[in-house]
Amino acid sequence: MGDRYDVIVIGAGPAGLGAALYAGRALMRTLVLERIGAGGQIVEAYEVDNYLGFAEGVAGAELSEKMKVHAGRFGAEIRYEEALDIRADGPTKTVLTNVGEHRAPIVIAASGASARKLGVPGERELAGRGVSYCATCDGMFFRGKSLVVVGGGDAALTEGVFLTRFATQVRLVHRRQGFRARAHNVAEARANKKIEFVLDTVLTQIYGDDRVEGVGIRNTRTGAEGRLDCDGVFIFVGHDPNTAFLKTLLPQYAGGVIPTDMNMETDVKGLYAVGDVRNGSYRQLATAVADGVVAAMHAERRIKTLVGPG
Ligand code: NAP
Repeated sequence: MGDRYDVIVIGAGPAGLGAALYAGRALMRTLVLERIGAGGQIVEAYEVDNYLGFAEGVAGAELSEKMKVHAGRFGAEIRYEEALDIRADGPTKTVLTNVGEHRAPIVIAASGASARKLGVPGERELAGRGVSYCATCDGMFFRGKSLVVVGGGDAALTEGVFLTRFATQVRLVHRRQGFRARAHNVAEARANKKIEFVLDTVLTQIYGDDRVEGVGIRNTRTGAEGRLDCDGVFIFVGHDPNTAFLKTLLPQYAGGVIPTDMNMETDVKGLYAVGDVRNGSYRQLATAVADGVVAAMHAERRIKTLVGPG
């Protein structure tokens, strides 16, 4: 039969832990399912300096741990299981995981997003051997080395600057002239003497037998091909939402972002989507936490309509 809860939160990032904190404080029996480790994408952030209240900045890993402890203080239970599917039977939802199943009238999908891959030859083969998606995790291995960073968003620009702490040279390869990143992040990268911009350019291949040795490039305007020698490639080209487990309940959106109303509720009553899995999310730490809080507060009312006053 599986265990019964009031609320099952899928994902222990800021959105999920924000929901768990509020659900726990509302005395709802709350389970948080987490695939790998609590914290979500911020674990990988060397420093978070845009979260209100942390004026000096805070390491992503430290903030994640604080969030986990805080949610746990009000009763949320965390289990390290991967949600694979959700089935609905009347008001009850059953979350099937790689370990077993759990039931609750309320499910909050807070499963975040995974780093997008370029899909070029050599990327998969050399992952962990010079190809990385996390500067905080792997930057220190490239002390005195030459790096290529791919992308033109805030992640590529800020992590590119961070990587200059270790690397002697960072070549930032971006597929067009304009940047999606905020102007001040672009300005900071442009002012950094170790960063060279290689624009209107895409990667065609990553070279190397046992370790990365270089990348193949193509100019998107002229079609000219070339090669940049390097010791590592950091890829920051966005993220894809982790929503495959919604294949039964919301098949039309599984694999993509989920539309919600202003209370974060989806088309299925009692099923919420918060943070990076929600359509229209600003994909910021503060907005992810806020999404979770809104969902939990609405869930407190919704649960009464689903199962009656407790
Ligand atoms: P993003 O803003 O979606 O940027 C992705 C970048 O990758 C874009 O420049 C895009 O190019 C490029 N790209 C996408 N697919 C590509 C492909 N197949 N080949 C080559 N290039 C490709 O993603 P992000 O930088 O990860 O940021 C995600 C969110 O987190 C944003 O809201 C961002 O503001 C936020 N964030 C904020 C900070 C901060 O400092 N406050 C730091 C990190 C992230 P095009 O522009 O040409 O589409």
